[in-house]
Amino acid sequence: MFNLILLGAPGSGKGTQSKLLINKLGFLQISTGDILRKEVADNSDLGKMANKIMQSGNLVPDDIMIDMMRNHISQIDYSKGLIFDGFPRNIEQAKHLDQLLAEYDACVNKVILLDIPTQMLVDRIIHRYTCKNCGAIYNKKFKIEKIAGVCDGCGGKEFIQRDDDNAETIKNRIDIFNNLTAMLKTY
Ligand code: AMP
Repeated sequence: MFNLILLGAPGSGKGTQSKLLINKLGFLQISTGDILRKEVADNSDLGKMANKIMQSGNLVPDDIMIDMMRNHISQIDYSKGLIFDGFPRNIEQAKHLDQLLAEYDACVNKVILLDIPTQMLVDRIIHRYTCKNCGAIYNKKFKIEKIAGVCDGCGGKEFIQRDDDNAETIKNRIDIFNNLTAMLKTY
C-alpha cells in the first residue's frame, strides 16, 4: 500500500494529477471535496451542514472530516495505494491521518507539493468547469473540449461549474491554504 498526498492550493491541479496517476498506476483517489459535494447533492444532513461552509470557502470542522476519512477508508479497496486529494488541510488532520494509516500498518509514503503562483490559481479556478457525467476537468482559457459541448472523455453533453469557484470565495480559499494548509510543508 503506497500512499501519496497531493498538497496544493485550490486550482493547483490535484484533481487533474490524481486522474493521471489513477490511469497510470491504478491508485485510488480520495478527494474529500468530491465526497462532500456528493453529500451536498444527496441533501444529507452532513451535506446541508457542509454546503454553507463550502460556499464561503471555509473548512468543514476537523472532527467531521476525520470521521469521514475513517469511514471512507474502511469501505474501499486500498491495496493498490491511495492518493489523498484535499486531505489533510491542517496539522490536526495530518496527525489523525498518520494515526489512521498506522492502524492499517501503513503510512504516508510521499507528499508532492504542487506549487503554483497565485494569479495562475485564480485563472484556473475562475475558468474551471467539469463534465457532469465523468468529472473530466476543463478550463475556458486553457483547455476546452475538442468538440464544443461534448466531453472528450465520455461524450457527455452537460457541464457544471462548482458553486465555490467564484471570485469572492477564491480569495478566502487561497488564504486558508496559505495560513493553514501550507504549514504541512514543514510537518
Ligand atoms: P476541494 O474540492 O478540495 O477544493 O474542497 C472544497 C471544499 O470542501 C473546501 O473549500 C472545504 O470547504 C471543504 N473541504 C474539503 N476537504 C476538506 C478538509 N480536508 N477539511 C475541511 N474542509 C474540507
